[in-house]
Parts: sequence; C-alpha cells; structure tokens
Amino acid sequence: MEMYPIYSFFSEEHRILKRMVRQFVEEELNPHVEEWEEAGLIPREVFKRLGELGLLGIRFPEEYGGTGADMKTTVAFVEELARCRSRGLVMGVLVHTDMSSPYLARWGTEEQKRRWLPGIISGERICAIALTEPGAGSDLAGISTTARREGDHYIVNGSKVFITNALNADLFFVLVKTAPELGHRGMSLLLVEKGAPGFTVRRMPKKLGMHGSDTGELTFEDCPVPIENLIGEENRGFYQVMSGLQIERLVSSVAMVGHAQQAIEDAIQYAQERELFGQRLADFQVTRHKLAKLQTKLEAARQLTYAATRTIDEGLDATAVVSMCKAFCADVACEVADECLQLHGGYGYMEEYDIARLYRDIRLWKIGAGATEVMYEVIAKKMGLRERKQEMIRT
Ligand SMILES: Cc1cc2nc3c(=O)[nH]c(=O)nc-3n(C[C@H](O)[C@H](O)[C@H](O)COP(=O)(O)OP(=O)(O)OC[C@H]3O[C@@H](n4cnc5c(N)ncnc54)[C@H](O)[C@@H]3O)c2cc1C
Repeated sequence: MEMYPIYSFFSEEHRILKRMVRQFVEEELNPHVEEWEEAGLIPREVFKRLGELGLLGIRFPEEYGGTGADMKTTVAFVEELARCRSRGLVMGVLVHTDMSSPYLARWGTEEQKRRWLPGIISGERICAIALTEPGAGSDLAGISTTARREGDHYIVNGSKVFITNALNADLFFVLVKTAPELGHRGMSLLLVEKGAPGFTVRRMPKKLGMHGSDTGELTFEDCPVPIENLIGEENRGFYQVMSGLQIERLVSSVAMVGHAQQAIEDAIQYAQERELFGQRLADFQVTRHKLAKLQTKLEAARQLTYAATRTIDEGLDATAVVSMCKAFCADVACEVADECLQLHGGYGYMEEYDIARLYRDIRLWKIGAGATEVMYEVIAKKMGLRERKQEMIRT
C-alpha cells in the first residue's frame, strides 16, 4: 500500500521484484506463521523455496548461481520479506543471505566458493554466523574460542551463544583466535560444518520474541576443522568480520522499518474499526496526529536506510551512516511498536493481535547486530570524539 506519493528510490525492475516477494510472503509464508512460531524453527523447505525464487543470492556472482545485483536490490527484497509476520523467520533468512555467507563470497578462495556457494544460493545448505560468546558480545576482541594448528587441521575449543539458525544450519562461520597473544590481530574466520567431531549444538531456552527463529549455543571440544576451511587470511578475521557488519546492520534496519510500517498499517485499520465515546478511534485528533507523527519518523528512518544503501552501492565508507541508520531505525521501530500497541488498548496485549508479538520481536534490534550504544560509539569515533584505545569495538 502506497500511503502517499514520494520520490521513488526503486526502478521498475525493483518494483517487479517487490511485487513478487510481497505475493510470496502473503501466499506462502504468512498462512504458516503460527505453526512456525510455535515450533520455534523455520522449515528447511522455506530456504529451498526462497532459493528457487532466486532470492538467496541477490548480490552473489552469477557464475555460482547468484544474480550479481546491487545493494538496492537486496533492500527491495528485505522491505517486502519484512512483511512476513514471523519476524524470526525474516531474521533467520537474513542471517543466511546477508550476515554470514557474504564472508565466503568476499573472502573465500575459488575452490571454497565452488564448493559451498551454489548450495547456499539454492537453499540446500543453511548458514549461521557465530561471533558472540558467553563472555564477549559487543567487545568482540574479547572472545576466547581458540583454534590451534595441528598438521592440516585447526583444533577448535570454546563456545558461542545466541546463534541464529543454530539448529537448522549446515555451515557455521565461526570467529576464533588463532594467535590469542595478538588480541584482535590474532583472530580468524573458520567455516565449521555441521556434524564435525566435538561440535555440539544446543537450543537456548525460550526468548522474549523472535520465536520463529532457532537460537542456539555452540560448543567446540577439540573439534578438528580442516585448514582449507579458513575463510580469508589467518589472523585477519577480525577485520574481515568488521567489514561485513555494515551489511548486517543495514539489512536489519530495513527489516525494522518494514515491520514498523506493518504495525502502523494495522493500527490504522484498528483505529478505523474501533468505536469509543460515540466515535471511531481514528476520529480523535490525538489519534490522527499520533499516527502521522509515527509515519513521519518512520519515513525519516527509511530515508536513512536509502542513504546508507546508496553509500554502499557507490563503494564509499558507510560506517557512520549505517551506524546512524541502525541506532535510529531501532529507536523509531520500538517507539512505533509501543504506540501502536497502545492504540489497540487491551487487545494489543493479547497474542491474537500481531502487535503483541511485534512489540516483543522488535525489541531485539536495540541489542542484536550491534547494540545502540555501540552504534553511538562508532558515530562518535567518526566525529573524532573517541579515544584510540577503544578502536577495537565492533565497528
Ligand atoms: C535473538 C538473538 C539472536 C542473536 N543472533 C546472533 C547470531 O546469529 N550470531 C552472533 O554472533 N550473535 C548473535 N546474537 C548476539 C548479539 O549480537 C549480542 O547479544 C550483542 O552483540 C550484544 O552482546 P552481549 O549480549 O554480549 O551484550 P554486552 O556486550 O555484554 O552488552 C550489554 C549491554 O551493554 C551496553 N553496551 C555495550 N557496549 C557499550 C559501550 N561501548 N558503551 C556503553 N554501553 C555499552 C549495551 O546496552 C548492551 O546491550 C544474537 C542475540 C540475540 C538476543
């Protein structure tokens, strides 16, 4: 639904893609949301279907089965995927497409790409990214999982927590320390395959929201990983991961805006139907102004995602704009969720209304993919306000 005419960021080709994804979400995903949220797992068939539709390799080279498109095309896809009422599903798919596998496409060898990318793009093989540990999240340089070289293997020891797609994934991009004495300059990225000896996955207890997504804890006990599974250069893992975080933060921002837009649309519909004090809720001026103000803030958030997208597509340093975008979108999306729930009154507190779930789901984004405080640290650094001793923060 176009609420008002506005300068279009998208081409006709993008619009065609958007219509296709919207129809797919409405017809093939939304009817199953309750079932998947209850199960706490996205069926693998969903990834395969996304693969069939050509949606898992949007920016990957055509020679491996991808589309070779730009960031704008990804944004067109994510805006529509975000209309899926299982926000956990959206997160799981984005972890696969934009938060993990791009490390392979960017840093992998020709052999590695030929081996794994086609299955990732077709949805046969699901990916996860494993950075966070029990003792280190925002402070990524503080991780303690190690990988010591023994012959033609790395022997991995340690654990990771809060890993999205943990139960479903076949391929885990795991950040480890290959030279612990060098701190963040001694980190590497390994691709660990499901079923590797000494590698176990445990589902983490129930979450506040994002129930459709499976979150797990990974444990590595003397787990041998072949040296040919090193992604990129040994001891450059920290920098490789830093370079990928901008995409992770942008796609999560786009998803938040999409979710929040849906919350506003639902609230409008509810306000037009609900009668109180002899008139419709929508007829109170305070309601109209509230919704107009939320839409205004959301439009500002959306335009920031577009600015960040353009910056990335033009090959410029997007660190500051993406951080601004992530922090601002999370704040606005949480405010929208809160105010739209309020408009629903007691019904907003009931699970049968999607706003109750959305309110819980959206809260993750002030924490996941870089906490808001970290985003402001990054922006402050770009403004020349931060001391160099903190340079290792997840920028
Ligand atoms: C549902 C879910 C899914 C996730 N999926 C994944 C995944 O797939 N892969 C993965 O690796 N991780 C994942 N995470 C982990 C997520 O990225 C981390 O939770 C996040 O980076 C914060 O790390 P932390 O939880 O260790 O909090 P901490 O780093 O301990 O931070 C705690 C709080 O301190 C504050 N803070 C942080 N830094 C600063 C600062 N510099 N200045 C002031 N205050 C600060 C913030 O408010 C922050 O929330 C997931 C988390 C959740 C909840």
